[in-house]
Amino acid sequence: MSTDYGFRFDNSYARLPDTLFARTEPQPVAAPRLLLWNRPLADQLGLNSDALDGDAGARLFAGNAVPDGAEPLAQAYAGHQFGNPTMLGDGRAVLLGEQITPDHRRRDIQLKGAGRTPFSRGGDGRAALGPMLREYIISEAMHALGIPTTRGLAVVANGEPVFRDGPEPGAVFTRVADSHLRVGTFQYAAGRRDGELLSTLVDYTLARHYPDRRDADNPALALLEAVQDRQVALVTHWMRVGFIHGVMNTDNVALSGETIDYGPCAFMDAYHPSTVFSSIDQRGRYAYGNQPVIAQWNLARFAETLVPLIDDDPDRAVATAEALIKSFSDRYDRAWRAMMQDKLGLTGDQDGDDALIRDLLDWMQQQRADYTNTFRALIGGQIPDGELYHQDAFLDWHQRWRARLATNPEPESVAWDTMRRANPALIPRNHQVEAALNAAIDHDDLAPTRALLDALTNPYEDRPDNDPYTLPPTEEERVLRTFCGT
Ligand code: AMP
Ligand code: MG
Ligand code: MG
Repeated sequence: MSTDYGFRFDNSYARLPDTLFARTEPQPVAAPRLLLWNRPLADQLGLNSDALDGDAGARLFAGNAVPDGAEPLAQAYAGHQFGNPTMLGDGRAVLLGEQITPDHRRRDIQLKGAGRTPFSRGGDGRAALGPMLREYIISEAMHALGIPTTRGLAVVANGEPVFRDGPEPGAVFTRVADSHLRVGTFQYAAGRRDGELLSTLVDYTLARHYPDRRDADNPALALLEAVQDRQVALVTHWMRVGFIHGVMNTDNVALSGETIDYGPCAFMDAYHPSTVFSSIDQRGRYAYGNQPVIAQWNLARFAETLVPLIDDDPDRAVATAEALIKSFSDRYDRAWRAMMQDKLGLTGDQDGDDALIRDLLDWMQQQRADYTNTFRALIGGQIPDGELYHQDAFLDWHQRWRARLATNPEPESVAWDTMRRANPALIPRNHQVEAALNAAIDHDDLAPTRALLDALTNPYEDRPDNDPYTLPPTEEERVLRTFCGT
């Protein structure tokens, strides 16, 4: 009898009109070896985490064997890349299928780097080990931070080199997501000028992600609003923890509201709104401080695809969509302010709060203060250690903040608890991520990656004094550029 690995697929995407995807098989690799295996996630999915931890998992998550019930396919999508419309599609990813979990959720299981597909264009369909480990680390860190995200289930070394600037070890990454529906999926359908296809996609997306809005009078408008709400919440989270996505192209905006596509993303150390890490983002389109405006821009592209379904009268449809997209700014501003109030432990809403928040951020920007550590050090109300925090400008601000805190109706301990939940002690800092990746790539040593992952599991817990993971990079350690991760 063969082992039951726990796969329970029900592949709804494969039942959609077949212009939306191409059936394709993952391409086997030379020598699969399981490097990272996410047991807690496997258990949540209902997979047999013991039986898959080893050769069986390596083969299945490299694509050398296809699990029972999988219907592998590559999804078609388009997208605006750095503002320019492009036809894309899964060029190196294969959706195995939708796993129905023991708690009745539907989760996509996708192999990334599993070989060429009909959408590969000039690409090799493969992925290098470094970027796949990076996606695993950052997505799991985001999850632990309480931020909606795709997950990392496994990284398998494929035993073959991939050629980028030179040869590098290759790998396959297994991604788990609520779905891989993107703004780009709708752009693709809209480009085909097929109203029925679009309307099918609207119903499908509502059913999958917003079931309570299925019976809305205007489903397309209900979807637009629901997706916008989740984008507001998502970008607010990113801003809270100093996350810079790096490639907010419309094909990288998931309609589920999950963070997707960890390419050149990075967490900011020193606070500055114009911080950019991505080597391909030379004009700073996707800089930290630009993310809300870009999210709104991406939603406007989504709205354009829905216009024909919003109203039979095109002028009215456009006006309705525009009004909704315009409301993003107010919705975001409110969410951002509430988030910053939490970071500072301020309850209620007072006139001076905006200035208090702004003044701290301006000071941090001038001083290039560490974003994570500065907020975390405020908890408890003492003046933080270090020369930086003994400047008059900061001491004045601190006094104002303490005076404002004193007007909270609740006891102080409530503010410290709120701050502890809003301000992580630990983020995956670039220099530490790079060091862990280098050990894996250069010495086949996964220990630093595992140790980092382990620390990142509880990011809101206090760290030991002088914990190296909480230290900002020294001048030499500072990572200036992240690469797009192929
Ligand atoms: P991204 O910048 O990660 O959103 O990827 C943009 C597009 O390039 C997507 O359609 C990917 O599937 C495709 N792509 C990226 N790397 C490769 C590769 N090595 N081979 C084929 N297609 C790729
Ligand atoms: Mg992408
Ligand atoms: Mg990518």
